[in-house]
Amino acid sequence: MVKQTQLFELQSDDITHKLAFYSSLEKLNRACSNCDRCSLSQKRQQVVIGRGKTQPDIAIIGEAPGKQEDKLGQPFVGDSGKFLGKMLESIKLDSNVYFTNVIRCRPPDNRKPFVEEIKTCKPYLVDELRLIRPKIIICAGATAVSGLTGKRESITSLRGKWLDWEGTVIMPIFHPAYLLRNPSLQKDSPKWQTWHDLIAVKLRLERI
Ligand code: SF4
Repeated sequence: MVKQTQLFELQSDDITHKLAFYSSLEKLNRACSNCDRCSLSQKRQQVVIGRGKTQPDIAIIGEAPGKQEDKLGQPFVGDSGKFLGKMLESIKLDSNVYFTNVIRCRPPDNRKPFVEEIKTCKPYLVDELRLIRPKIIICAGATAVSGLTGKRESITSLRGKWLDWEGTVIMPIFHPAYLLRNPSLQKDSPKWQTWHDLIAVKLRLERI
């Protein structure tokens, strides 16, 4: 039986292994459900594992579980997740989607995850993406981009520009929580830009 520690030994610094360490999502999720590798394990209600289609067109990565996610054990089920779901639905991008986060336990008071916490949790994310192999990854917010790619720039400069992770294209977008705080639909507003980013995803998906 594979040991959870082996995953972290393999992936701790330079993640060069292109094959998933675990043979299935079930095994990966089982391994991380009891994880106590960082101090976020002490205050969580539960580990929040990914949800959705397991051979998805799109994988959406957020920052961290919030209050609702922590309570229900699923990512993107709070207000901002529901809002993003509606956006995807209205553009008909919602049929084959997988949702996950850079880290799997809620930071106290919804603070931003620390770099060390992201680094500690990253092997789970990498293994998860290697298992589901989405056609396109959407990173919601700068923390999701930096957590996956290491690229540290503001989401304002990153959004709308294609990036790459192990041969899979990434579209960075504003986090839906930010869009809820900035509801304007005027030209060049964050919401307007996000619509255009999602349309770019839809058009690209049609070509894959
Ligand atoms: S955030 Fe990740 S590494 Fe930290 S305890 Fe939760 S599952 Fe483990």
